[in-house]
Amino acid sequence: MKLLYILLSATLLVACNTQTTAPAVNYLENYVSDVTYLAHDSLEGREVGTQGEVIAATYIAERMKKIGLIPKGDDSCYFQVFTRKMKAHPHDTLMLGDEIEGRNVLGFIDNNSKSTIVIGAHYDHLGYGEEGSLSDSAGQIHNGADDNASGVAAMLGLASKFKNVKLKSNVLFIAFTGEEKGLWGSNYFVKNSTLSNSEMNFMINMDMVGRLDSNNRLAIYGIGTSPVFKPILDSCNTWGFKSKFDSSGVGPSDHTSFYLADVPVLHFFTGQHKDYHKPTDDTEFINFEGIVMVADYIESVVLSLNKLDTVPFTKTKETSNKARAFKVTLGVIPDYLYDGIGMRIDGIKQERPAQIAGIEKGDVVVKMGEFEVKNMTDYMNCLSKFEKGITVIVQVKRGESVLNKKVVF
Ligand SMILES: [Zn+2]
Repeated sequence: MKLLYILLSATLLVACNTQTTAPAVNYLENYVSDVTYLAHDSLEGREVGTQGEVIAATYIAERMKKIGLIPKGDDSCYFQVFTRKMKAHPHDTLMLGDEIEGRNVLGFIDNNSKSTIVIGAHYDHLGYGEEGSLSDSAGQIHNGADDNASGVAAMLGLASKFKNVKLKSNVLFIAFTGEEKGLWGSNYFVKNSTLSNSEMNFMINMDMVGRLDSNNRLAIYGIGTSPVFKPILDSCNTWGFKSKFDSSGVGPSDHTSFYLADVPVLHFFTGQHKDYHKPTDDTEFINFEGIVMVADYIESVVLSLNKLDTVPFTKTKETSNKARAFKVTLGVIPDYLYDGIGMRIDGIKQERPAQIAGIEKGDVVVKMGEFEVKNMTDYMNCLSKFEKGITVIVQVKRGESVLNKKVVF
């Protein structure tokens, strides 16, 4: 027994000596410190073009450097800087024509391959909530711990994981800015990248992965963008995630920019909550063990995808109607994890058509005008049919009752 023990120890010692001397990473600890730093009040909500954004970007670049990622921004640094002109918005502090400077943060693992996997998460948020806030009390710092310090933390965790694994593809990690303003950073990257679209193997996006609930509900978008995704997502799910799959490559986050450039995409999201786009989206409500699970799951999915020769791209059907350029909006936040009949509303924007018509959070939209709304796709299709200025009867279910609300778009 003792001899066996000594032999075993000796074998282990030899095995250890042949390994690299990279120190063990405490992922949970890193997720806590990354989210805590990024969602701290001193970063003032990380709005693109502000000092808080610069501090956040600098922090992410330092983390990438420490992990050992190669700078892949402009001029061999980690930042990819761009400027955008602000659109006019009545509640904006910035006026039409004001130029905003934003920066994506890019770090690279070179595995000497012609193809590259992109893993991204946006790091910007709403600042003081001048635009996009769902809070009634204006002017407070919106820390965005879940949206999306959580995704950035998971991305940095995956960078540590893949740093010492020789994958078939290179891996590019990107922290996007300006997502909250309309996917600015990812859009700029796709159109100004040194990588051609065909060099991008597939793209993984994480936007809000910090609120895994006790049922382990996880939404995964874009599974229709490659036929290989669904079987791999299923076979890798040894964590008991209750997955809600969505086929479309077009959704409310940065993966959309890549999908529109014909890159297969997967977007991971732990779901809406009452603090979404409010000053209360804070670190204290983050489920860090949940981030561990989601990042480990994504690691396993990427390792499986890496074994394939190619990840073929397929267009998903919803985009046939020209990326759904809506002329109208209801001004609500849909519950993307709802799997009943209809479109459940998870948040109402102030002074927008739904709120003015008396529609409330929790209502389930089942009909708009003459069109039935059975799911999110029906809802999106309805919006693309309506013109600005028209009045539509929207039928909602509220508890047991069915109400008809007159919405003016
Ligand atoms: Zn987000």
